[in-house]
Amino acid sequence: MKCIYCGCKDSKVIDSRYIDENNQIRRRRECLNPDCQKRFNTYETVEMLPIMVVKNDESRQSFNPLKIKQGIMRACEKRPVSVAQIDEMVNDIEKQIQNSLKQEIKSSEIGEMIMEKLKSIDEVAYIRFASVYRKFTDVTHFMDFIKEFEDMLTNKK
Ligand SMILES: [Zn+2]
Repeated sequence: MKCIYCGCKDSKVIDSRYIDENNQIRRRRECLNPDCQKRFNTYETVEMLPIMVVKNDESRQSFNPLKIKQGIMRACEKRPVSVAQIDEMVNDIEKQIQNSLKQEIKSSEIGEMIMEKLKSIDEVAYIRFASVYRKFTDVTHFMDFIKEFEDMLTNKK
């Protein structure tokens, strides 16, 4: 990063601050030219990678956190779960996906992440989501799931 005063190419970062609203990082720099040593700010924008969701039929769709929110809201209908809690789950999942740095993610992986969150927030919402999401094809499969769920509850207590 060139010094804006003397054009010297070397500067050191003395402070970094994350500005959340627009995904920017402000860095305070100091020129390393001993005759200058002036300070200036630079702004860096964090690059958001476009992420594609791969559906079961192999078709792709751009990742949309709103869809996660809608899915969770449907599962939480008439349950004691606040919108703030739902937003937090959506944010966590979005962050997890962004941090993985993958450009493609399977819809099934997102489904598992949602279930993981719901499990700790509301048991009924979790079962609702899982039963719709996993599309139980036969009763045995569903019974296995209920068994798994009961084990989970017993372990918790
Ligand atoms: Zn300088």
